[in-house]
Amino acid sequence: GHNNLNAKLVLLGDMGAGKSSLVLRFVKGQFLEFQESTIGAAFFSQTLAANDVTVKFEIWDTAGQERYHSLAPMYYRGAAAAIIVYDISNTDSFGRAKKWVQELQKQGNPNMVMALAGNKADLEDRRKVTAEEARVYAEENGLFFMETSAKTALNVNDIFHEIAKKLPRA
Ligand code: GDP
Ligand code: MG
Repeated sequence: GHNNLNAKLVLLGDMGAGKSSLVLRFVKGQFLEFQESTIGAAFFSQTLAANDVTVKFEIWDTAGQERYHSLAPMYYRGAAAAIIVYDISNTDSFGRAKKWVQELQKQGNPNMVMALAGNKADLEDRRKVTAEEARVYAEENGLFFMETSAKTALNVNDIFHEIAKKLPRA
């Protein structure tokens, strides 16, 4: 039959990786070159239909700065899904993404669907993180991986769609 699910989803990752931009693209179909940085966290909701399921995503877009780190568990605790975002043109952001994955593996819901998003895929000429190393890392750690661009919309709907398909059915 058809399933209607509510799914809490959290975006984690370094400041500037493009978390808010991915949400804005997914929820409103927009992109801002000068996206304001998030203070604390912001909430959005968006419904998506995939095959046999309609998912209402309850999205927590977190800030990413170290000074907000202690707040993060409030957002990932009880989350059905997480998107860990890095910027393909920033090696440090990839390292930071790995730290978030470790934290979720230790403290998060064990059934959480985890996606790794290599964002800013449009910045090919400034690429520092290869798709191959990210794919290998994701495979080893039980995440699925996609490169995205909030700017061009590459794979943005797809990553949410893929999460919707992987969520446990009610
Ligand atoms: P957050 O701190 O992770 O929420 O990152 P933001 O969404 O605020 O984005 C930080 C900056 O990167 C902003 O200037 C965005 O316009 C830019 N940005 C976000 N996503 C992309 C992308 O896919 N491609 C490019 N070229 N810039 C992006
Ligand atoms: Mg933000």
